[in-house]
Amino acid sequence: MSSQWIFLGGKFVKKEEAVVSVYDHGFLYGDGVFEGIRVYSGNVFKLDEHLQRLFESAQSIMLSIPYEKEELEQIIVDTVRKNKLDSAYIRVVISRGRGNLGLDPSSCSEPQVIVIAEALALFPKELYQRGLRVGSVASRRNRPDVLSPQVKSLNYLNNILVKLEANQAGVDEALMLNDQGYVTEGSADNIFLVKNNTIYTPPVYLGALEGITRNVIIDLAEKHGYEMKETPFTRHDVYVADEVFLTGTAVEVIAVVEVDGRKIQDGKPGKVTNHLLSEFRKVVRTDGVACYESSSTGKAI
Ligand code: PMP
Repeated sequence: MSSQWIFLGGKFVKKEEAVVSVYDHGFLYGDGVFEGIRVYSGNVFKLDEHLQRLFESAQSIMLSIPYEKEELEQIIVDTVRKNKLDSAYIRVVISRGRGNLGLDPSSCSEPQVIVIAEALALFPKELYQRGLRVGSVASRRNRPDVLSPQVKSLNYLNNILVKLEANQAGVDEALMLNDQGYVTEGSADNIFLVKNNTIYTPPVYLGALEGITRNVIIDLAEKHGYEMKETPFTRHDVYVADEVFLTGTAVEVIAVVEVDGRKIQDGKPGKVTNHLLSEFRKVVRTDGVACYESSSTGKAI
């Protein structure tokens, strides 16, 4: 098997040699930012949007990424190429870098940039046919005025805690509420519901990451003539919805068929969900930055 190459410390190193210092504040304090990006048929999907979000997260925590956007774009494309990948999941990590044991970032002289690209282990088809069982959890979503969900930081404990609660409850995914009890999102995905042919998703100010897949789905829904509303809703609205689905880079669009033990309608993935999933899978084939010259669809770099 050929080795996997990781971009680390300004160059490509073999996976086995890709190690960071225990003094890196990304490790010590979760001080850093990241992105998860997908490659479809050699095209990096929505790379500009992911880079924009990465740079905004970094700006928010006063972390200076030591590359221009275009340079980082090239590094990401090169990482996919170097690993000869076609369909892949990319993880970009910018940590504060090595410092001393104190939390003050001013002891860290140089941010660390890491790009990992791996062949994608796709979610099993059966999961899309069956749909997910979701449960609301006791832990609340971080308040945006304490730690904004828009900062995609290396501190993901809020999300990890709710995932643990979901695991304990024996469901597939957690439903996170904000401190007022309004629905925000899943542990790593945005939530939508369908009622009387109108599609609803919570406004991100309630405490959700502005997902890139979420935005693609909002555009697709409008393009296909659905009424689309960003409105606060509660668990009750979810229980009585016609359809519920989650969106995210990893999961794409996936139906939720049960919430807190309540079956959503007949407990099967709904028509609107399936329609948007199939439209989404068309878009990912046509909209991306091409890693290889032979790629027919994306914008070459
Ligand atoms: N919410 C959270 C908390 C996430 O971590 C993710 C995954 N990035 C999402 C939503 C979905 O965002 P995207 O569609 O950009 O992957």
